[in-house]
Amino acid sequence: MKINPIFETPIKRPILIAGPCSAETEEQVLQTAQELAAQNIDLFRAGIWKPRTRPNSFEGVGTVGLKWLKKVKEQTGLKVTTEVANREHVFEALKYGVDVLWLGARTTVNPFSVQEIADALEGVDIPVLVKNPINPDLNLWIGAIERLQKAGINKIGVIHRGFSAFGDSKFRNTPRWQIPIELMQRMPELTFICDNSHICGRRDILEEVAQKAMDLNFHGLMTEIHPTPDAAWSDAKQQITPYQYKELINNLVMREITTNNQLFLKNLDGLRQQIDVVDNELMALLGKRMQLAEDIGLYKKNNNISILQPSRWNEILQKAIVKGKEKGLSEEFVALFLKAIHEESINHQEAVMNKEGVENVSSK
Ligand code: PEP
Ligand code: MN
Repeated sequence: MKINPIFETPIKRPILIAGPCSAETEEQVLQTAQELAAQNIDLFRAGIWKPRTRPNSFEGVGTVGLKWLKKVKEQTGLKVTTEVANREHVFEALKYGVDVLWLGARTTVNPFSVQEIADALEGVDIPVLVKNPINPDLNLWIGAIERLQKAGINKIGVIHRGFSAFGDSKFRNTPRWQIPIELMQRMPELTFICDNSHICGRRDILEEVAQKAMDLNFHGLMTEIHPTPDAAWSDAKQQITPYQYKELINNLVMREITTNNQLFLKNLDGLRQQIDVVDNELMALLGKRMQLAEDIGLYKKNNNISILQPSRWNEILQKAIVKGKEKGLSEEFVALFLKAIHEESINHQEAVMNKEGVENVSSK
């Protein structure tokens, strides 16, 4: 079934979805909505039922909040959206005239929940936004989209909110941009929204992530806004005031997705050809490196030595990080790149080690 854009065509960039993480009080919801309506946002968000990591946290105001969203529509003319996680949420949201529904990251991850929601939406004409699952599994994300399509939902968008990761990081949820980029390639008809609030988990980097999303051709942003962010009942650290939001949006540089300028295209083509040459050299070098790994594997095999030599691996990594820094490469990238190479090298060594018979390295 064809997927249609959630917002009117031609899609304006950026589509702005904004509002509090949670609806807390009628006053907070209406005040935020009025200030955002003055900024011409496209859709007002507010969580009514909140999936929280630990019990005893604020779990949302529940159905009473839907009455406040109805008032937002009446008083400001804004369209409204909220998160639904089960059948009851869907029925309640529809009853109160919520315009767009969204599936949260903890829902997309669970096909039972997604199917329950899809079944509840059978025959209903409403746009749905699907957040990525908390784990970096593109097929699970696509699976949720397909379940909704099968239920007859044809206005579908996706929200990139980053992926859970263990350990310290600058982000609350690691963006792993490659995953939404691959989804753009596979399903270009979807509307792509970046939830910079949940990727960042903090205010100071919201703008840089929003800009990156625009430079990667996302159609819009979903951002959490609160009149007094530090006093918010959920996600206080990542929320900003309507005024800070206005500044953030004004600061965004919007670039064209493409152009007909022939000189630009010719110059770009020249630079791309140089990139292709470098990529070919990289592949040739990587092939050479794997050949060496196989020689080492054979040599270790003949001498009955195991593949993994932790001290050697650490030495390689540290040396590469220093070298990479000299060339302007981030430590994060060098570590990721080398780990991938190391894994491939191990696979090559393993393949020769577990082949029958004893061979001579020099005979290869
Ligand atoms: C939210 O949008 O407030 C929320 C709970 O998001 P996520 O599902 O991305 O964690
Ligand atoms: Mn939130």
